Amino acid sequence: SIPKDNQSIHIIDEWVTNYRPFSKEGKNASYIPALEKVNSSQLGITLIGPDGTNFKSGDWDIPFTLQSISKVISFIAACMHHGIPYVLDKVDLEPTGDPFYSIIRLEMHKPGKPFNPMINAGAITVSSILPGDNSTKKLESIRSLMEKMVGKRPRLNEEVFLSEWQTANRNRALAYYLKETGYLEIEVEEALEVYLKQCSLEVTTEDIALIGLILAQDGYHPIRNEQILPKEVARLAKSLMLTCGVYNASGKFAASIGIPAKTGVSGGIMAAVPPRVRNENLPLLQGCGIGIYGPAIDEYGSSVAGVMLLKQIADSWDLSIF
Ligand code: GLN
Repeated sequence: SIPKDNQSIHIIDEWVTNYRPFSKEGKNASYIPALEKVNSSQLGITLIGPDGTNFKSGDWDIPFTLQSISKVISFIAACMHHGIPYVLDKVDLEPTGDPFYSIIRLEMHKPGKPFNPMINAGAITVSSILPGDNSTKKLESIRSLMEKMVGKRPRLNEEVFLSEWQTANRNRALAYYLKETGYLEIEVEEALEVYLKQCSLEVTTEDIALIGLILAQDGYHPIRNEQILPKEVARLAKSLMLTCGVYNASGKFAASIGIPAKTGVSGGIMAAVPPRVRNENLPLLQGCGIGIYGPAIDEYGSSVAGVMLLKQIADSWDLSIF
């Protein structure tokens, strides 16, 4: 139950009800056929505070696939295995202002190094350097890191994986281009298999809220009382979420919400809210993790109702880092 001094958090129930109808302004991702058929009007949220107290509302427990939220986890896994400098030799840290699937900058800027690990080109490159000499082991490095963070092994949604695998022409094109320029050290199909499988790992808003919380706490797992990720890696991941996490809407997202967050085309949003002294009246928000799910997405690939809900929360409780 929610401690007394956190009671005002219950207003989120009202906001979930109010924003759910706005799902109609978006559409489920249709380029991955399995995502198109889910109920578009779902909206749910989990918020986990620094002492593990959590607040859940709406469709918080509906499983959905990580999609691009997995890019944060694979980047962290790669940095933990190789060290940050090795990974930054493969991917840069610059926002593109382009959609997540864009290929244009790989050719425009020699030698074709992906601009950042949050766009598909960068994420496929990161998947290729994950530890292990085959795709199963590489995927396992993500799954076991998730298990450490959320306490359970994520299930692979085979249907979503196959659905995207069979239609992934754009990602194949990116991977072939990366192979040609030397950024992909393994075979194209193997890198794609890792990348598309990590995108198809299933979570609930509770799982991604917990990962958001660990990031908000600079890699410290406040419930297990354990430093799970190196502080530098957690900070790097958050800086990428803020500058590149919403692709060509990252600037707008930073200006209007101001919380490091990563969105995915299945409608998930993972946010890491740093402690803000101005919120001492609501301890739950002092360095918390927020997970949101709403499958109807906007033109940038982010949940329409989910972004509105997060903005309402950020505005009402002054959560912007700026
Ligand atoms: N699997 C998706 C893709 O590669 C992930 C994209 C996203 O969530 N933005 O297209």
